Amino acid sequence: MIALDIGGTKTSLFFSKKENLSAFEERYSSFITEINKKQKFCVIPTKIFQEPEEKFTKFFSYLKSLDNEIISTFPGIVKIEKEAGKWRFRIFSRRFPFLIGKCIDLNFAVNDLYAFAYYHARKFFKEPHNRDKTILTIQIGTGVNAMHMNYYDYKQLLFLRKIFEAGHVTMRQSAEQCYCGRKGCAELYISGKFLERLGNGDPTAVFKDEALKREYYTNLSLYVSSLVILFSPDKIVFGGNVAKSLDTALLHRLIEETFPHFKIHLNIEYEKDYSRLSILRGIVALYEKFKKKFLMILT
Ligand SMILES: [Zn+2]
Repeated sequence: MIALDIGGTKTSLFFSKKENLSAFEERYSSFITEINKKQKFCVIPTKIFQEPEEKFTKFFSYLKSLDNEIISTFPGIVKIEKEAGKWRFRIFSRRFPFLIGKCIDLNFAVNDLYAFAYYHARKFFKEPHNRDKTILTIQIGTGVNAMHMNYYDYKQLLFLRKIFEAGHVTMRQSAEQCYCGRKGCAELYISGKFLERLGNGDPTAVFKDEALKREYYTNLSLYVSSLVILFSPDKIVFGGNVAKSLDTALLHRLIEETFPHFKIHLNIEYEKDYSRLSILRGIVALYEKFKKKFLMILT
């Protein structure tokens, strides 16, 4: 199996067979920015296969020549449908305009948040005492998205039938246009792109400057408290590049302070995970579960 996590700028690839990683390394040596032979993964820039369509097709044909089982995350929406007894993965991603509304010929495809959320839900619900609790995963990178899951959603894979676009809830009634086509989306005020703008090109500068930091945390705490008001999660896991710089204790204090009615004490456990491997491990585990649940032929 080859598993891909396609990000806005970087794509990570996991190879179940060592020899396939070696073959890939030989062919793409000048593009590989990171490689870990022990964990069998490497990282390449997304732009080397992103467009035009011929380049994309050639890249995936090459992967298929190495292994007949290819699974991948896609930015944007991946609709999982069943047509004439066959599962199809329909892509709606502005990053791949030539694929919009089309089905991708791979063994499995999901948005990266689904893989990330599944990876953490698997760890969380392994503990029987967590099975009456819920987990919220929030990814903040180039974009923003969030998914809330209970034990039943996790076990039955119900989340695969749903569309999560929590970065595009309206946060401000402004005229600012989001790339998604809507205006005033939360993503415009809390994503890595916003941090880049606020820090004058350097997103990490925001966390070193008190005034900028206050501006960012005000936005973020408003957004996260809206999610907490809606879902009341027991655990929140932050993923994506921005998670690295997040002060969850400060964020928690601000959420409690701005809660409706009165400052309240909330019992929420926090975790930060910005490892590339979590998404790759998540999609592999989710695909295995998907196969077992929906693709096994019962005799
Ligand atoms: Zn939007």
